[in-house]
Amino acid sequence: KAKQAGGASLAFFTQDILVEASSRLTIAAELKRAIVDNELELYLQPQLDSASGEVVGAEALLRWNHPVKGFLTPAAFIDVAEQTRAIRLVTGWLVKESFGIIKRWEQAGRDLFLSFNISALDLADNELLLRMTEELEHQQIKPANIELEIVESAIIENFQSASAILSKLRELGFHVAIDDFGTGYSSLAYLDKLPVDKLKIDREFTSKLELGEGAGIVKSIVDLASNFDLRVLAEGVETLEQEQLLKQLGCHRVQGFYYSKPIPLAEFEQKYLLPQA
Ligand code: C2E
Ligand code: MG
Ligand code: MG
Ligand code: MG
Repeated sequence: KAKQAGGASLAFFTQDILVEASSRLTIAAELKRAIVDNELELYLQPQLDSASGEVVGAEALLRWNHPVKGFLTPAAFIDVAEQTRAIRLVTGWLVKESFGIIKRWEQAGRDLFLSFNISALDLADNELLLRMTEELEHQQIKPANIELEIVESAIIENFQSASAILSKLRELGFHVAIDDFGTGYSSLAYLDKLPVDKLKIDREFTSKLELGEGAGIVKSIVDLASNFDLRVLAEGVETLEQEQLLKQLGCHRVQGFYYSKPIPLAEFEQKYLLPQA
């Protein structure tokens, strides 16, 4: 529309921007309400040790039971949340929930970890660090059972502040993973300085494993991880063949639909916690 000349199209164009801006504000405001009204829910996807095939932890993935729009996945709201300050409320909620879950698992005698996703804004100041510190004092869990997932760009865009905060979190004993590794900067100059424990290979590469071309990339990332003394997990494992190749390449951990889709917390606990309890 912007390309067409004339006042009418300009008016339409402006209206589009206004509509978009107001829908952003609506989503952000609604997220605040959703937290109060208990509409957010965590789905868990297991992470397995490739050598033993055992479930060693899970990633928490956000779902929103919206009263009007129905069941929403992050694609419908995470970008907007990240562009507004609403994401900080979401992350605050995630901290509380995750620590509560780990506390319960520990009380059941299970030593599984839980990872959750954080955003660039969470590393721009001390709020996340303070919340994590407070919650650790309050719940007295094993910090190594909590892992934060963050994309590389979110660290590099604001390197000083982000790496300082991640370092402090790791000093407290929490773990940090780079999410979607291989799709961002992947600069060797930075990798050396990233305060992290684990690389999560993006599923784009996992999905190309059988084609041969993907195997080279995955192998490079696995070797890189080993040289930097990092753990490495492959995301998006969907087939037996991929699993076998990943094992051969020496990838420590796997996650994907081949093992399980993300499932509601209660279902995860029933499947992976109760049998051994
Ligand atoms: P992510 O952290 O990279 O999460 C992996 C996404 O891949 C999840 O989508 C998961 O359901 C999907 N997935 C897992 N295994 C497979 C597979 O084998 N095949 C395929 N095709 N897909 C698979 P989901 O749950 O829709 O989440 C999308 C993204 O939204 C996440 O990507 C993450 O960046 C973001 N996100 C999710 N939960 C949160 C959250 O609580 N906070 C923040 N800040 N971001 C979140
Ligand atoms: Mg993730
Ligand atoms: Mg990912
Ligand atoms: Mg992602």
